Amino acid sequence: MTPAPGKRRNLARLATAAVLVISAGALFAEARELRRVAQGAQARVPATDDLEVLQLRPNFYLIAGAGGHIAVQVGDDGVVVVDAGSASRAGAVVAAIRRLTPRPIRYVINTSADADHVGGNEALSKAGQTLFTSGDFLGGAASILAAEDVLKRMGAPTGKPSPFPAGAWPTETFDQPRKYMYLNGEGIEVLRQPAAHTDGDVMVFFRRSDVVVAGDILDTTRFPVIDRARGGSINGEIAALNRLVDLAIPSVPIVSREAGTLVIPGHGRVCDQVDVVEYRDMVTIVRDRVRDAIGGGMSLAQITASAPARGYARRYGSDSGPWTTNDFVEAVYHSLMQESR
Ligand SMILES: [Zn+2]
Repeated sequence: MTPAPGKRRNLARLATAAVLVISAGALFAEARELRRVAQGAQARVPATDDLEVLQLRPNFYLIAGAGGHIAVQVGDDGVVVVDAGSASRAGAVVAAIRRLTPRPIRYVINTSADADHVGGNEALSKAGQTLFTSGDFLGGAASILAAEDVLKRMGAPTGKPSPFPAGAWPTETFDQPRKYMYLNGEGIEVLRQPAAHTDGDVMVFFRRSDVVVAGDILDTTRFPVIDRARGGSINGEIAALNRLVDLAIPSVPIVSREAGTLVIPGHGRVCDQVDVVEYRDMVTIVRDRVRDAIGGGMSLAQITASAPARGYARRYGSDSGPWTTNDFVEAVYHSLMQESR
C-alpha cells in the first residue's frame, strides 16, 4: 500500500532522519550545542534506524548514525562525500543526501578501509554519476577515491575471497602525500597519513568550508584504534594527530566567538583545534608512559598492570568490546617494540 505523498514524506522522515538545520550565522553561537548533539548521535542505540544530519557550513553536512561519520559537501558540481558508512545503512544515507540536494554524488572519498566507512561505497557510487563522460567503463557511477593501500585491503588477497564486492572498491587510488581537487568552489586536499590508524589513512581538508574530515585517526568515543594487523602504528597515529593540530586554526584572538576550523572525527563529537590538542596530548602521554616503562625493563604484563592509561581510561577506555583499554596499551607496546627492532 502506498501512502499519500505528504504522509510518505513524514513516514520517511520518521524512519530515517532527524534533520537538524542550523543557519550559518548562528553556527558559532550554537557550536557547543552542535557538539552536544553530535555526541548524542554517537550515544544512540545502533539498532534504531535513525540518521542524524547536521549542517556544519552553508554547503557542508555531517551524517551520523550510519557507522563512521559521513561528510557531505554540496554545490554546483554535485556532491563530494567523505566515507560511506556501513553497507546496511547505505540506502538510508543515499535518501538523506537526496533530501539535501537533487545534484548527483560525484566522489566518494574513503579515509580508511574499515567496513563501517567503506561499506556503503557501492550503493553511494551507483546512486551517483561520474564527472567524466568519456571512457565510461564505470557505467557512469561516481568515482571512489582512496589511498592505494585501501584498495589492497579491500581487494582480493591472494588465494582468498575479497572481503568486499568489486563495486565497492576504489576506482581511483593514489600513493603520494597529497592529492587535490577543486570542486564546488573550493580546494579539497586529500592528505595521506601512512601507518596511523591503518596504512591507508587519509584526512580530507575542505579549504573554504574550513572543515577537516579526520576518519578514525580521531575517535572521541575511545582511545584511537591502532590497527597493527593493517599497518597502524602509535607514532604514525601521533604524527597524524599533530598534522591535524597544524591544519586546524582555533578561534583566536577572539575566543568567545567559538569560531575556527571544524574537525570531524571518525566517530563522536565534532571537534575544534583545542579538542584535537587535548586528544593528541592524551595519546602522547600514554605513549610516553609505555615507552618509559619499556626503557625501565618492564614486561608487557607489568606495564599493563601499571595502568599507563590512568586518568583517561574512564573517558576513553573500556574493559570489554572490540577495543579495550588493554588492547590500546598492548598495541602501543608492540608498536614501540617493533620500531625499536
Ligand atoms: Zn571507524
